[in-house]
Amino acid sequence: MFYESTRGDGKLITSAEAIQQGISPDGGLFIPESKPIIKLDEIFSLVQKSYGERCAEILKPYLSDFTSDEITQCVNDAYNNSNFDHPDIAPVANLDRGLSVLELWHGPTCAFKDMALQILPRLLVKSMEKTGEAGNILILVATSGDTGKAALEGFKDVPHTAIVVFYPEQGVSEVQKLQMITQEGNNVGVFAVRGNFDDAQSGVKEIFGDTATAQIISKYNYKFSSANSINWGRLVPQIAYYFSAYAELIKQGRIQLGEKVNYVVPTGNFGNILAGFYAREMGLPVNKLICASNANDVLDEFIKTGVYNRMREFKKTLSPSMDILISSNLERLLFELTGHNPEPVRKWMSQLKQSGSYQVEEEIREKILGIFWSSFATDKETMQTIRGAYQCYNYVMDTHTAVGLNVYEKYLAESSDPSYTVIVSTASPFKFNASVARALLDEEKTHGKSEFDLLEMLSEFSQMPVPAGLKDLDLRPVLHSEVVEKNNMKQAVLSFIKK
Ligand SMILES: *Cc1c(COP(=O)(O)O)cnc(C)c1O
Repeated sequence: MFYESTRGDGKLITSAEAIQQGISPDGGLFIPESKPIIKLDEIFSLVQKSYGERCAEILKPYLSDFTSDEITQCVNDAYNNSNFDHPDIAPVANLDRGLSVLELWHGPTCAFKDMALQILPRLLVKSMEKTGEAGNILILVATSGDTGKAALEGFKDVPHTAIVVFYPEQGVSEVQKLQMITQEGNNVGVFAVRGNFDDAQSGVKEIFGDTATAQIISKYNYKFSSANSINWGRLVPQIAYYFSAYAELIKQGRIQLGEKVNYVVPTGNFGNILAGFYAREMGLPVNKLICASNANDVLDEFIKTGVYNRMREFKKTLSPSMDILISSNLERLLFELTGHNPEPVRKWMSQLKQSGSYQVEEEIREKILGIFWSSFATDKETMQTIRGAYQCYNYVMDTHTAVGLNVYEKYLAESSDPSYTVIVSTASPFKFNASVARALLDEEKTHGKSEFDLLEMLSEFSQMPVPAGLKDLDLRPVLHSEVVEKNNMKQAVLSFIKK
């Protein structure tokens, strides 16, 4: 399997090169030249397999320059019971007769980013061996909370790599901040930025594009790469859990082989749901992919009208990991739907950059509507849904998952579609405990309580233990307390590398 850029001239590279480069030099994203087909009998053979074995089957055709042993080693090192606190890794919990939840938050940082960021560093190290890269890779990350911690956990102490994370000083929750500033590992750097997420993100992009900085770090034998979802090595492992959930439902006797199911995906950067699109294209029996947004409803508008318009107010919501106005991975979907034609993609992306919006043709819009359905949930609806899910199903869900369930309820009201449905759950309720506790507990009980008091209260109320990754966070030593001005991020990277 070879890879091409969404904006390129059709030049083909291997998966190892795509993973190592992260983003194409022409600004595009790497895409596999074709989509391998997984037949129904092959899906059936996944039923008796472990999560790691299922994942290996999906990775093999995409990473054809890796040996089967290399892939097995990567999945075993990533998906095991010292990294994940559930034996099934990505278990399926059942809410109702035709409704299940795919829990993607049993990894070390309690959000679905672990599903990809536990394996990406291992794939990257193997990729470097394959391309003959003799030096080291420096991963730069700007995070609004979840990606930073998941990337730190994935890359800590990984040989020949180092990682520097920037987070907005005031833009992350107390739990998210403590997760990052207490990070252990001998190759990690964490900096707060005086500014918002956009400042951190722009700063990182600037460093990536700065040849002078690249030259300095090359003297220390480093090259930059990215751990954001623009990297194919982060996207491809996510395809696996769509297949795994389907196999799990067959195993539990809840669906028949070949029966079509819906997946509802709480969406921000369009990475998770795009993996669902690939699964569907590969032959997984999927009816609709339901795209759930919060009040930042750019994608909902795009799917309904074909107009992508980022010129709107950025809203801070109770589902902060979906607060985003530019969904980078949509570019991959557009490239697929144009039949791998970079010309219109280049046009739309340059319009987005210059005027803040673009509109796709009717033909593309119809294709999108045949695959996706979309809506959004407000904060108020999110809180009501958390309460409702507890009352109806005795299930405690986080704010992002609740956006998904709320949007599914809207879909059912409009379509009466009887298909079996899986809500993709992207975070542990304990990760966004303050909102969840406020939704479920009496106002007077939660008033004036710290996030850590609420963690304990939620644990008591739900009879679920606080996950190891969040427990006693406030008691761990702070190892990274540096705050930098947004104009000094480059210096921070250089001083880190010189140490
Ligand atoms: C990152 C994240 C999302 C959004 O996923 P995308 O792949 O960016 O669409 C949703 N929920 C949680 C909890 C996340 O961390």
